[in-house]
Amino acid sequence: MSTLMVSISGLRGEIGSTLTPEVVQKYTLAFAKYVKGGKVIVGRDSRVSGPFISDLVKGCLVAGGCEVIDIGIVPTPTVQLEIEHHRAAGGIAITASHNPIQWNGLKFMGSNSRFLNPEAAQTVYAMGDHHEMDLKSWQELGSVTMDDQAIKRHIEKVLNISYLDLKAIRQRHFKVVVDTVNGAGGRIIPELLKKLGCEVIAINQETSGRFAHTPEPLPENLSQLGDEIRKQKADLGFAVDPDVDRCAIVDNTGQPIGEEYTLVIATKLIFSKKMGRMVVNMSTSRASEDIAKYYNCMFVRSRVGEINVAEKMVEIDALIGGEGNGGVILPEVHLGRDAPVAVALTLQMLTEFGGTMQELRASLPHYEMGKQKVSVEGLDPDRILKEIAKKHSDLPQDHLDGVKIDFENSWVHLRKSNTEPIIRVISEAPNVEEAESLGKRFMDEIKSIR
Ligand code: MG
Repeated sequence: MSTLMVSISGLRGEIGSTLTPEVVQKYTLAFAKYVKGGKVIVGRDSRVSGPFISDLVKGCLVAGGCEVIDIGIVPTPTVQLEIEHHRAAGGIAITASHNPIQWNGLKFMGSNSRFLNPEAAQTVYAMGDHHEMDLKSWQELGSVTMDDQAIKRHIEKVLNISYLDLKAIRQRHFKVVVDTVNGAGGRIIPELLKKLGCEVIAINQETSGRFAHTPEPLPENLSQLGDEIRKQKADLGFAVDPDVDRCAIVDNTGQPIGEEYTLVIATKLIFSKKMGRMVVNMSTSRASEDIAKYYNCMFVRSRVGEINVAEKMVEIDALIGGEGNGGVILPEVHLGRDAPVAVALTLQMLTEFGGTMQELRASLPHYEMGKQKVSVEGLDPDRILKEIAKKHSDLPQDHLDGVKIDFENSWVHLRKSNTEPIIRVISEAPNVEEAESLGKRFMDEIKSIR
């Protein structure tokens, strides 16, 4: 049986086993107390289990005196934007992000529209575990109202990004295939593309929560999208995960360009127009770093986890940031990964570049990455990482988050996952063979330690 994952990325568990009504209840009641019965935005992705989790969450918030604004099936970044719009005390996105259909979870956000930082999240979890709650009398119960305008506002916000030339994008009449994998993206990405003058072919658009394929937007899950691009002779394709914070791009030949390159393209666009600072996590490609250096812009790495990137961005007043998993953060819109933002920036870059998506990808710094994982179920991942670090103590290392070992033209980063009992092995090198053999070498080392 899987375990309930409790991390800075929120809670995630499987329906019918670890994500029980009791779990949802205790942490939501704790959150209601944490926000002192204030206004809370609630949104969910399209998962089949979403309605009952949403009912539980709203019920607990009302019991804790909160004024709930239910914005329905929406991307996670939309919940963040609505906290700002409604000046709410916090928000809860009901989603298990890219996890398969049997999963669901909760992501908690504060009044600053960002995810709770590690300390605040820890506080809420501890309150939940101790069944701390502040139940109100019948006169002081909260309320629930609906707001169905959230997606419309999100689209408007994206169309107002200062780096976009809407007229120029619309003149290109891009033909775009979009795969929203029956998640919340079906409500926003096709509509946004239409507003950008695109001819849109949407696949798996119905927000049924019955994912047509494994929902993580990795190359191996994008064959249907690639086939449709070739059939339609489209200019490009976009794939998003069920809660629409990650975006992967597929080129005009139907080939996924790699999720790392979503942020690389956005970075190139921003820094070609304005000097500034950038933050990415430790597992993100060197390609963005090369671009930042080319434009004399400051490049900083943070610990892995969206909130760690966002907090570092606030600290250094960054223009752009994100993660190599297709997560682009543009503070001008808000401080969270946002796939609609990534879509708009990509089309702007492609418009300015003038060539095809395949040519644009070829013009960018070239690295190949290997992303692998080893199960450490029942083992202590910290002990394993310590032993690896010791074994390679003669090489440059960074222990900000897990163990990163640098080689001249390559690097490997080993870290335990926040959401699953695994160690991720991320390696990067100038070509696929080198990246894979470097990753494999360290996978074997981990296996030999257990
Ligand atoms: Mg996600």
